Amino acid sequence: MEITLSPLSPSVNQTFYTSLFDLQDGERVRTCLQCGTCSGICPFGYIMKFPPGKIIGAIRAEIFEQVLKTDSVWMCVSCNACASFCPSNIPITRVLMTRTKEEMILAGNVPSELQAALENTQRYGNPLGESPRKRADWALGLQPEVNLLAKTRQPVEVLWYVGDYASYHPRMQSATRALAKILNALGVNFGILGPEEYSDGDSQRLAGERGLFEMMAQKNGQVFRKYKFNEIITTDPHAFNALKNEYPALGIEYPVRHYTQFLFERLEQIKPLLKTEIKAKVAYHDPCYLGRVNGIFDEPRALLSAIPGVELVEMSHQRINSLCCGGGGGGMWLDGFQWEKAHTRLSEWRVREAISANAQILAVACPYEPPRFEDATKTIPAASQLKVREIAELLAESMDL
Ligand code: SF4
Ligand code: SF4
Repeated sequence: MEITLSPLSPSVNQTFYTSLFDLQDGERVRTCLQCGTCSGICPFGYIMKFPPGKIIGAIRAEIFEQVLKTDSVWMCVSCNACASFCPSNIPITRVLMTRTKEEMILAGNVPSELQAALENTQRYGNPLGESPRKRADWALGLQPEVNLLAKTRQPVEVLWYVGDYASYHPRMQSATRALAKILNALGVNFGILGPEEYSDGDSQRLAGERGLFEMMAQKNGQVFRKYKFNEIITTDPHAFNALKNEYPALGIEYPVRHYTQFLFERLEQIKPLLKTEIKAKVAYHDPCYLGRVNGIFDEPRALLSAIPGVELVEMSHQRINSLCCGGGGGGMWLDGFQWEKAHTRLSEWRVREAISANAQILAVACPYEPPRFEDATKTIPAASQLKVREIAELLAESMDL
């Protein structure tokens, strides 16, 4: 789209700019050096008419309205790479990109697939549009039966917040069942919320729907208050991020860990149970909201290294410089839109990196990833032998569960 860079109403700039200052560390936007690091590191920066640095430039030039007339910002997958490498420590993803998406939604400039996921969340409590009644169907037939807190009302040590994709997505349900088996093998007293659980709302927040995020958080908060537990564990790094960093500001505060942290703490108990060898070179993909945003890099690698036969290899993007799978911050619901613009997928880039590292297994720890990476392996002939496995699946296999 051709952009006319003529100065527009300063009030649009002013209102947007000052709204950033109300957000935590939002005033740091003033310190932008216009160095271009954010635009350079952004995986889709080369497609965006206005990558992050240029959005700030547009505000300063009082032409922010032009940003809203493009669909540039919908190429942002909220991966936080820009924020992690900004020399001025500007919270670009959380503040600038998310607020810009909010403005786009207010202006009605929203791709239809994202709109559908947001509507599903509002109507059904999950972006997939699944029935809340089926939220615990993944656990049917498991022995011992998974403790549904609404049924037993027993105090538990651990409340397992299972999350949307781990509950409903057919590819993920095997990994969810694997984690349930591991928790049972370790003798953990845990329970789940099942139909009472709502979406964590974090990706909806990052996609610009703050109101929907708050609605989901409040609903989850009301359910949490009904039960007695010592801590929450999550399958999904996005849920972990929401509960750790976003829910407390809404008065919903509980000790929370990602399941890889929880299992890592029990590694000495797990090691003797890891009996079956998995002889393979394994590359671990750091999920953005586990690694880059929350600093958890070593625990998943330690769990994988403990499996007999596993040889860890590293991909060219790793740890804080990991490459997004393309699913975060609403990316799961923008695949068609982003394909139209870029004619490539970040998941395909990542799978190519795994092949270059000579990996036989691409190990993941986020429920968005197995379906995305498995789809990518089908489009890349060299990846036809690459297996995509959740860490819980690999551990359960080695534990003969
Ligand atoms: S990396 Fe930070 S300082 Fe550099 S252009 Fe981007 S926002 Fe500005
Ligand atoms: S969060 Fe990621 S995708 Fe979005 S602008 Fe920053 S680097 Fe680009």
